[in-house]
Amino acid sequence: MQDAVTLKEFQQRIDATYGVRDRARGIDGTFRWLVEEVGELARALREGDGGRLEEEFGDVLAWTVSLASLCGVDATRAAARYAAGCPKCDSAPCVCRGESG
Ligand SMILES: [Zn+2]
Repeated sequence: MQDAVTLKEFQQRIDATYGVRDRARGIDGTFRWLVEEVGELARALREGDGGRLEEEFGDVLAWTVSLASLCGVDATRAAARYAAGCPKCDSAPCVCRGESG
């Protein structure tokens, strides 16, 4: 297993692996799979199953970049939204009040 992969490489790898199937399934169906995977992550969190967390996070990341590819969104550019910290207050840590904790 490769231990260091950039987000760009990850999105390309997932597209090479599942892109044909994802494009056949379409955006709506792929979005439903992402939601299903988020549900599995929720279950692992609720059950305190630490052993499954890494796997479930991996699946959520994979489906997230899959869906981004289907929508023509470059995940690296999307992540760059947070390059300077919070995109709303441009600070790290965020100093917005009453939002996202
Ligand atoms: Zn903020």
